Amino acid sequence: MLIVGASLAGMRAAETLRLEGFEGSITMVGDEPEPPYDRPPLSKEILSGEWQADRTALYRPEALEALELTWRLGVRAVGLDIAGRSVALDDGEVLRGDGVVLATGARPRTLRNAEPLDGVYTLRSLTDALAIREEFLAQPSRVVVVGAGFIGAEVAAVAREQGLSVTMVEIAEVPLQRVLGAEMGAVCAEVHSDHGVDLLMGAAVGSLVGGDDGRVHQVVFSDGSRLEADMVVVGIGVVPNTEWLEGSGLRLGDGVVCDETCLAAPGIVAAGDVARWPNKLFADSMRVEHWDNAVEQGSAAARRLLAGAAGCAGASYTPVPWFWSDQYDRKIQLAGRTREDDEVKVVTGSVDERRFAAIYGRAGRIVGVLGFNRPRHVMLYRRLIASAASWEEALAVAEGDG
Ligand SMILES: Cc1cc2nc3c(=O)[nH]c(=O)nc-3n(C[C@H](O)[C@H](O)[C@H](O)COP(=O)(O)OP(=O)(O)OC[C@H]3O[C@@H](n4cnc5c(N)ncnc54)[C@H](O)[C@@H]3O)c2cc1C
Repeated sequence: MLIVGASLAGMRAAETLRLEGFEGSITMVGDEPEPPYDRPPLSKEILSGEWQADRTALYRPEALEALELTWRLGVRAVGLDIAGRSVALDDGEVLRGDGVVLATGARPRTLRNAEPLDGVYTLRSLTDALAIREEFLAQPSRVVVVGAGFIGAEVAAVAREQGLSVTMVEIAEVPLQRVLGAEMGAVCAEVHSDHGVDLLMGAAVGSLVGGDDGRVHQVVFSDGSRLEADMVVVGIGVVPNTEWLEGSGLRLGDGVVCDETCLAAPGIVAAGDVARWPNKLFADSMRVEHWDNAVEQGSAAARRLLAGAAGCAGASYTPVPWFWSDQYDRKIQLAGRTREDDEVKVVTGSVDERRFAAIYGRAGRIVGVLGFNRPRHVMLYRRLIASAASWEEALAVAEGDG
């Protein structure tokens, strides 16, 4: 088997193949030089200095060895031949497999027309995180975080905890507006202003301006206004890594388009941040950029390959997406498929104390739950979402739960 992308989803696929008894060869192709590592600590414990880089390893060396994988790290896949199930690498080699797992993840979106300047960062890799950490230690006088999504918010939180001056800039009126809606987005904004972050909402960044030293000096907004900055972290979302698959015949559309079983073509599956598939539970096509999905879909995709090889139909992949984010002393969790215009109801706790759970409803169903330091409630309502419970049932559970 060939697995392209040697990170979370790819490794879970490899592990599942072995757990399910696959004894053939498994080759892992990955363009990063390091053995697989975990990304969530990058914007938390690595940025704060609490952890050294080696703690992010996804597996201990003995565990990796036990999987008996063939490694091709530091090389990039540049093409896929669907019929031959072969992958061309940038060093000229062509690898063939009985099955192929596409797990090439996503990379940060960058600002349009931004010339390269020192002091400007995105955050996806261990190298990015260590570089940002290094800058934090040099005590920049003003950090500007562009984008108030989960990554931007975590970077802002760590920077504040390091005593740095931080401005968080967001094009929407509140953070995470499209996902959480105006009311809960405003709560996220307040968490940051409580901790001394300057928030500039509804502000579109036009460009970044550098000085003669080649370092960023100012952020220029589309209305012409300017903000001083000597460090900028851009967290404006990600784009799936699918360019290398162009011309392969696979359907691409904001990700590798799969069927409901994660199959992209016969013998070819996709998983993790790069995969788009119709999730029957929500009757919606989705691409999910969360840790838990990379784990679950990596496993599901591997099982799909084995089912296909055995001549069986695969199972539909129907998870309730789930995500967490650590900001200051809050653990924020979101499960389900929420939208800006969903009905929102706080079912437990106190929004003022930032310790609560709120559920999201649409078309008579519970579709999401947001928790601030309320993990039990997030899991409780996540189960209701998984069972396609009605909004009324969810409200009745809330009543019973007190
Ligand atoms: C800083 C940060 C913090 C996060 N925090 C959280 C969190 O708190 N909670 C949460 O739920 N999720 C979090 N996430 C999201 C989570 O880490 C991702 O959803 C997960 O890493 C996706 O795994 P993946 O294997 O699909 O993709 P990736 O982890 O992106 O791995 C894809 C791999 O494929 C490689 N690759 C790409 N193209 C090629 C190619 N052509 N050839 C060879 N290799 C290639 C990439 O370099 C990479 O190594 C965070 C992500 C980041 C970046």
